[in-house]
Amino acid sequence: MRYERQVLMKEIGEKGQNTLKNSKVTVIGAGGLASPVLTYLACAGIGTITLIDYDTVSESNLNRQFLYHEKDMGMNKAVLAGDVLSSLNSQITINPVSVRIDEENIGQLIDRADVVIDCVDNVETRLIVNRECIKQDIPLVEGGVYGFYGFVMSVKREYPCLECIGYGNTKLKRPGPVLGAVVGVIGSLQAVECIKILLGLDDVLYGKMLNYDGLTVSFDLVELLKNDLCEVHGLLKG
Ligand SMILES: [Zn+2]
Repeated sequence: MRYERQVLMKEIGEKGQNTLKNSKVTVIGAGGLASPVLTYLACAGIGTITLIDYDTVSESNLNRQFLYHEKDMGMNKAVLAGDVLSSLNSQITINPVSVRIDEENIGQLIDRADVVIDCVDNVETRLIVNRECIKQDIPLVEGGVYGFYGFVMSVKREYPCLECIGYGNTKLKRPGPVLGAVVGVIGSLQAVECIKILLGLDDVLYGKMLNYDGLTVSFDLVELLKNDLCEVHGLLKG
């Protein structure tokens, strides 16, 4: 009964719902983007969700991180998010992990995930996750927000990665400006993208970046190219 309305879709059906139940997704970060991402994945019945965040809740998180409430300030995000998601859907497995991601631990943290979703707010972690997903050949859904602007793209070994498009050269002011509702748009798109990848549906954002501008009310789809000089893809050539 819980999934009645989504099983109605021919792209999902009983078979697809079973696929989602048997899927493992790892979400990096449990903040603004992860609030809609984790909520919608739990609602959709993704069988195993691992969420990773070392941080605690602060007041400035509350304009966008709707998994948390005023009473939660100072408390561990991974544990809190795990409790919220478990109460939302007791039929799935939630693995909260409270650790800071680095080059040493990322390999084990995303091991055997069907999809990884990047919901962090810093370039360094994104590049670590990007590199490991290409290495382990795990699809990665990227999303980011700056003010009224946001983007979503998906990364896979055969397609351009963050290094290919020069993401490492990004210099953004920290902390960046963020409107909660824009984070909601981008996080929701990431959740849809993840579910489509798990179901094996066509037209996902491999080799494409979807840009959203809330000020001009426009979506813009940009084709991306693999870079022959990409250091991450270069590692595969041996
Ligand atoms: Zn690359």
